[in-house]
Amino acid sequence: MTRDGTVRTRFAPSPTGYLHIGGARTALFSWLHARHTGGKFILRVEDTDAQRSTEESSLQILKAMEWLGLDWDEGPIFQSQRLDIYRSHIQKLLDEGKAYWCECTPDELEAKRKIALEKGEKPKYDLTCRNKGLGPGPGRVVRIALPASGFTSFDDMIKGRITVDNAELDDFILLRSDGMPTYNLVVVIDDALMNITHVIRGDDHVNNTPRQVLLYQAFGFDLPSFAHVPMILGADKTRLSKRHGATSVTAYKDMGYLPEALVNYLVRLSWSHGDQEIFSRQELIELFDIHDVGRSAAVFNPEKLLWLNHHYIKTGDPDRIAGLLPEFLQAKGYPVPEPSYLARVVTDVRERTKTLEEMVEFGDFYFIDRKPPEDLCEKFFTPEIRDAFRMLVERLENTDFSRKEALEEAVQSLLNETGLKFKVLAQPMRVALTGKTVSPGIFEVLATLGRDRAIPRLKRALSYMEKKT
Ligand code: GLU
Repeated sequence: MTRDGTVRTRFAPSPTGYLHIGGARTALFSWLHARHTGGKFILRVEDTDAQRSTEESSLQILKAMEWLGLDWDEGPIFQSQRLDIYRSHIQKLLDEGKAYWCECTPDELEAKRKIALEKGEKPKYDLTCRNKGLGPGPGRVVRIALPASGFTSFDDMIKGRITVDNAELDDFILLRSDGMPTYNLVVVIDDALMNITHVIRGDDHVNNTPRQVLLYQAFGFDLPSFAHVPMILGADKTRLSKRHGATSVTAYKDMGYLPEALVNYLVRLSWSHGDQEIFSRQELIELFDIHDVGRSAAVFNPEKLLWLNHHYIKTGDPDRIAGLLPEFLQAKGYPVPEPSYLARVVTDVRERTKTLEEMVEFGDFYFIDRKPPEDLCEKFFTPEIRDAFRMLVERLENTDFSRKEALEEAVQSLLNETGLKFKVLAQPMRVALTGKTVSPGIFEVLATLGRDRAIPRLKRALSYMEKKT
């Protein structure tokens, strides 16, 4: 807690690639903990690795966060703009004898590492420079002077108490020879100076935490609470990677997933509330408790994500979903119709389509005149139904398309008068209107397409039948 009792959490991505869904889940837990407790959520971009960090990646990560609705209260703060702060803190440790300059070259260290490995020992810095009293110089690094004995412990909100023998740790580097500070150093300084009360991050960092705890102690900073979130695995129980399919948040956006589906899916990996599967954002904020996050790694299940996406597509506000379709239409080169038309399309197709991309593919005939392929024309536009079809077209031409019931009545009265069965006309109508044999209900299609789109398509089918005789 800060002095006034406010919770402050952060998400601290390294902009070396896209926002991985594992990272997104960590961000989500951190965001939820802040929102659940009425605290603040801080976004910090850890871009001190100049070689691997790119602005493009930062931008993509920020956009993905926005898309997920993980809004931040402070930031983005870029570590690359805080180098003076880190260097002055290193200087403080040097002045206090808690850190020292080291001139060992990478080659020397590598040679010693090899020898240790050959002897079956754990490689560890051998303290060559610890008492040399060196000052700065080219090629030199700054190392922390760690206690040689004792234990370092911290309480993890998910994993429980973790203790390491200090003898296991070595005098790790704080400042590289290129003048850049290292992750363990900057993360501690920033978390402390930004008054972060709860450090929530992936458990790939749990081995770093004892080193960080020792740095907190060296600086005299109060320790935050730590929560290390378990990994996400693929179905084969190895760490989720590209081999398992798409892993970037942006890829899911581009495939036509809704942010609420991804958020709902990610939160349920390692967290649950009874048997409940569907959570609104508000419910999550009310119910989420970081202490309830489980310890074991979660397995990514793309089918469940798709199921959730379908749920949100089926139950979402059609106007909102319609508002998300234009980029998918443009990707296919289809014209973008007006919003009210799109919303009707959404209502027509959403029972049968699980992503926004599928909506546009399955409902393509709403956007383009999809001329039926020749084999379907042959099969369905037969001379036998020509007269009935002509009557149908005439009837519909005189019908009010704005009422689906009127269209139904018009067709029903024709069936009554002629004694025809609906199934004789339904499939030819479908093929004429949509160019395919599977579509939403034929009257929904008619009503949504409207007279100006529907009648010419029906007439084209009729003229095919007429040519056949
Ligand atoms: N920049 C680190 C990463 O992306 C963050 C680690 C942390 O949250 O402390 O893995």
